[in-house]
Amino acid sequence: MRKTLRVRLTLWYVVVLAAVLVAFSVEFYSLFDKSQRKQLDGSLRSAAQVTALALNHETEEHLGKIAGEENVRLVLNTMHQTSFPGPDIGVWEGSRLVAEKPGSAGISASAVKERLSREPVEDETYFRTVEWNAQRYRVAIMNIRVPSSQATYLVSTNESVRPIEAEMRTVAELLLLAVPVCLLLAAAGGYFLAVKSLAPVSDMARAADQISSHNLDQRLPVENPGDELGLLAETFNRVFERLQNAFRQQRQLMADASHELRTPVSVALTATQVSLANRDDAVDALYDTLEVVQSQMLRLRRVVEDMFTLAQADSGVYEAKQTVFYIDEALFESVRAGKVLGKARDVEIRLAHLAPASEYAGDEGLLRQLFLILLDNAVKYTPAGGHVDVCLKSHGGAYRITVADTGPGIPAADQPHIFDRFYRADKSRSRRQPGMGSGAGLGLAIAQWIAHMHGGDIRLENSGPQGSVFRVELPFFGGKGEAGAKEAASPLRGYSRQSPA
Ligand code: ADP
Repeated sequence: MRKTLRVRLTLWYVVVLAAVLVAFSVEFYSLFDKSQRKQLDGSLRSAAQVTALALNHETEEHLGKIAGEENVRLVLNTMHQTSFPGPDIGVWEGSRLVAEKPGSAGISASAVKERLSREPVEDETYFRTVEWNAQRYRVAIMNIRVPSSQATYLVSTNESVRPIEAEMRTVAELLLLAVPVCLLLAAAGGYFLAVKSLAPVSDMARAADQISSHNLDQRLPVENPGDELGLLAETFNRVFERLQNAFRQQRQLMADASHELRTPVSVALTATQVSLANRDDAVDALYDTLEVVQSQMLRLRRVVEDMFTLAQADSGVYEAKQTVFYIDEALFESVRAGKVLGKARDVEIRLAHLAPASEYAGDEGLLRQLFLILLDNAVKYTPAGGHVDVCLKSHGGAYRITVADTGPGIPAADQPHIFDRFYRADKSRSRRQPGMGSGAGLGLAIAQWIAHMHGGDIRLENSGPQGSVFRVELPFFGGKGEAGAKEAASPLRGYSRQSPA
């Protein structure tokens, strides 16, 4: 797989480079060819123009002394002596060759003229490529007039194209050799680079292969934190860290849960074993044992029920029962139940302020459970003679419920954890306090789930030696305030709803 990626990268690289090199070579070849031919045409035109100039000059100088055609022969003869070999030049009067200067091409002026399809019109330099003896020649032909003698001539100049063709063949051979060599070198270099740059991926894969649930503390090597592969390794490392935390929490949860379940079972078992060992015990002693067993079984049932509720919450299968009800009434009744507990512990519960006729759409049973968890905790942790103030207000598009007690408060170090499952700030104390909750440290976790489920939140507003204040926010839905709450869309987040029968 990794090899394929390297090869694929190299192939892509070579294909793109090949396309660029071929395009460049073709363009270079054609531009070079054009420039060579342009240069040749230029030199043929210059030779014709020089001939015309020289002829004009000579005729003017020898006017009346030498006949016109003699002048032409003189001019070509001089040119032959001064610029041999140069191009072949022929001077014509109509179709009659007046004079000729042979050059390097080796084709006669007559042979050239025979192969031309037409003659140039006035002032035109007419170029053609003609073939003779399996060779190609470039020809320029021009119309010239000698004003002093009133004569009109045609001048033809020609050169073989062979040197240009030979040069272009050499260029083509060079390009045909250079392009494959470049591609081979590029392929080797590209493959080397692909292997080198993908090496960290192989290292990461090897390292990731070694990581399992037993050594989740290991991390992938991050060679260059600044590049993309470094970023990938860091992202994987963050995933491993989250996995490690999740595993740790899961293990902690298992350990806490088994501890909470084991304690009541052990107490009940010990009480039963003691009774069975003392067969002669009076009936009262047996009743005592049964009471111990019953209280432990009740505790066990509460822990199991709380765990079950949270398990349903986690899996999202909890079926919420949404109704429209008066939240002040639900709170009032919860307070009444809490007062029973408070009375037993000499803690007074007071309703400080209650928003009247406050309609709300939600799961009434769950919200009552939330209120009871807070009241139960407040009573449980408040010393005798203290009091708990409960308040319901509508505030900023939400119902705000506060439960303030005069207990000893929660140590600052424990405050961030009290909503964690099985977390108890004072382990020995919280289990000792009798109350409605299990005392296993699940109450606030359930309360938080209920608040979140209604789109709200719960938090510890403040806590200190003067007591603790818990605040619950339950937003109205549909943005219509209290009156709109009952028409609102479901506030129950991510849970299936069940209308009450
Ligand atoms: P528990 O079942 O142990 O009460 P909770 O989840 O309800 O579990 O609470 C977690 C911990 O938070 C408790 O063990 C307790 O230490 C602390 N706590 C909760 N409410 C109060 C309160 N009103 N006053 C003091 N401590 C509290």
